[in-house]
Amino acid sequence: MLSLFSRSSQKSLEQGIAKTKQSFWAQIGKAIAGKSQVDDVVLDALEELLIAADVGVETTVKIIERLEQRVARDKYLSTKELDQLLKEEITGLFAGADAPSGIDDDLPVPYIILVVGVNGVGKTTTIGKLAARYQQAGQRVILGAADTFRAAAVAQLQQWGQRAGAVVVACGKHTDPAAVAHETVQEGLRVKADVIIIDTAGRLHTKVHLMQELAKIKRTIQKLMPEAPHEVLLVLDGSTGQNALVQAEAFTQATAVTALAITKLDGTAKGGVVLGIADQFQVPVKYIGVGEGVEDLQAFDLHTFVETLFAGRLA
Ligand code: GDP
Ligand code: MG
Repeated sequence: MLSLFSRSSQKSLEQGIAKTKQSFWAQIGKAIAGKSQVDDVVLDALEELLIAADVGVETTVKIIERLEQRVARDKYLSTKELDQLLKEEITGLFAGADAPSGIDDDLPVPYIILVVGVNGVGKTTTIGKLAARYQQAGQRVILGAADTFRAAAVAQLQQWGQRAGAVVVACGKHTDPAAVAHETVQEGLRVKADVIIIDTAGRLHTKVHLMQELAKIKRTIQKLMPEAPHEVLLVLDGSTGQNALVQAEAFTQATAVTALAITKLDGTAKGGVVLGIADQFQVPVKYIGVGEGVEDLQAFDLHTFVETLFAGRLA
């Protein structure tokens, strides 16, 4: 495995989801105030607060159903045990989920990542952070500025490229994104890059348009490397809560997304959305963003996330 995420300067997950944790636990405190037994009233309050925490209706219902079964089985459950119960049932819900997605070191070379998502979610930032990680791990990275819709987008990627020590292929504003993708892959092959990451514009005015644009970019890449892109990384803004779920839905229908990154968890109490997304999509959450700095990208592991969410709460 390439150790992309071993640096100790990285902001801890604890810090990264502090707001979500705080608000989640304050709500739970309210839900069980004055109650000694986990009953229907407590479960109703819990259902409400999970939905309010942006876990999403579908996933919340699953968690509550598990708790109801538990309550029916165990007869008397104290509200003191609620933290533990909730943690167990959330963990149980994801028991079949995949192990943490490490970065394999037997990746195809070059490994081509196409990054998609709505404007403003953190695509370029995530690419910059990823490029830095790969470069630090000794991988040669080439970035493609295929968000040609805004001139500033190209400049922003170039800045990240400079910081990471990665070459950026850019052809200027309004160039056909597919042409930029083509040129990037060509350059990557020429210099024998290990990793090629292509930025895109996230215009979602119509799904058909999005589908066509992404399909065209893929086709041009495939002319040079038939099995690429190896990864289609969809970036979602966690601070938009349920809207992130809606976007995940739209993008996974428009193109074959293979991995998700959920950004901006540091500034929001809506981190529960990560659970909803992990539960409702077949596509694994691979990264989370917990800040704007180059070190603020983390490999996501669901079990660690749940552990951290409950850490310090359990006696
Ligand atoms: P893009 O339009 O999808 O490429 O989005 P950008 O990468 O330009 O990011 C939009 C804004 O979100 C920028 O101001 C970033 O600094 C910020 N951003 C991205 N990821 C994170 C994150 O994990 N945490 C915080 N707090 N801000 C982020
Ligand atoms: Mg961008």
